[in-house]
Amino acid sequence: MAFLTTHPDVVPLISYRFGKGATSIDKYLELDGYKSVQKAIAMGPEAIITEMKASGLRGRGGAGFPTGLKWSFVPKQSAKPKYVLVNGDESEPATCKDRLIFEHDPHSVIEGTIIAGLAVGAKMGFIYLRGEYRYLLKIMEKAIDEAYAKGFLGKNIFGSGIDFEAISHTGAGAYEVGEESALMESLEGKRGIPRIRPPFPAVVGLYGGPTIINNAETLATVPHIFRIGGAEYAKLGTERNGGTRLFCLSGHIEKPGVYELPMGYNLKKMIYDVGGGIPGGKKLKAVVPGGSSTPVLLPEEIDIGMDFDQVGKAGSMLGSGGVVMLDETVCMVEFALRTMKFYQHESCGWCIPCREGTDWLKKSLTRLHAGGGVDKDIDNIKYLAENMLGRTFCPLGDAAAMPTIAFVQKFRKEFEDHLDGKGCPYHHSLEHEAVLA
Ligand code: SF4
Repeated sequence: MAFLTTHPDVVPLISYRFGKGATSIDKYLELDGYKSVQKAIAMGPEAIITEMKASGLRGRGGAGFPTGLKWSFVPKQSAKPKYVLVNGDESEPATCKDRLIFEHDPHSVIEGTIIAGLAVGAKMGFIYLRGEYRYLLKIMEKAIDEAYAKGFLGKNIFGSGIDFEAISHTGAGAYEVGEESALMESLEGKRGIPRIRPPFPAVVGLYGGPTIINNAETLATVPHIFRIGGAEYAKLGTERNGGTRLFCLSGHIEKPGVYELPMGYNLKKMIYDVGGGIPGGKKLKAVVPGGSSTPVLLPEEIDIGMDFDQVGKAGSMLGSGGVVMLDETVCMVEFALRTMKFYQHESCGWCIPCREGTDWLKKSLTRLHAGGGVDKDIDNIKYLAENMLGRTFCPLGDAAAMPTIAFVQKFRKEFEDHLDGKGCPYHHSLEHEAVLA
């Protein structure tokens, strides 16, 4: 996957070192590396959290929770060790940004992890990589070894009297472990299913100790916040949505790739100007704005700023930054079916609304798409999805339900066009297959 920095609106902050050989610690040091952590050591825990709050950084994994606030929830005193956990289990379909950070700038993740540790008093960080990203393990292990060799990890880091250890680890290929409590179960060597919450990880997390768990992009952003200052970082974005983020443009788009743009960047401009528009002069039919779990937007709904609040107001979510364009050739019933097949496959099966709901939705959508549906199937699909919402142990149930409801609401006519034994009336092209695959 390419990262694209040629457009004038791209702000290379997180991507500042991409393509510059910063996997080597010497290059990273040349490019301002490990200066932020030294600043943070001098500042102390409270000032670090204040700086993070001033930055307006919100979690880049999808939920958009304010990072500084999250860190402030960790109790100062704890009988058990505290931990920092990097969620690099990037599995949301259409999202491919964290892997670029690991590939091009692994030390920024380590540096961000140490700063998080300093903020909350943790002495150990785990960097959890997606199972399918196993090739990244070598890059991370080399970076960690280099940091140990320089005295940036281990005992008495930077001669500060503070100890901090780090280790990387891969999952076994389950979408579910992107959920923070399931990730902790997996890291502890158990089956990756979620925990009942509360208690939340900030209080009772990994091995029962208070744990900060943040997405990889979130933590890789932290050194840049200390490099330019929290207030300056905040100014790059919009109110309550500080900074920049990596947007992954894919599907029917002229220039697919990962672009770093300010939070609040206009989605229409992102598609037609930054991304070069829809190939072949075709019309845009729909946009999935933040990964497969986010409700689809219609072309008339895309004149919005891409931040958590504005996309939320438009009825969807900013999610993990995976923006998928669908042109007029896409059958939305088939797209709904492919999306549901993914969630049905990835459901851990622990709770009934998700286990049964995704399975029945997949069956209903399969029948409808094949032309065997009856009138009430359409309402039943929507009813089933609506009854999963908010009734599952973890967000995977919602992630399957929310886009399904939007597909039926916004493309009901396409669902109806599949009834009466007609089957799929929409054009299938190889290009279209590639988008849906
Ligand atoms: Fe498992 Fe789905 Fe329930 Fe989450 S919502 S716990 S994935 S069955």
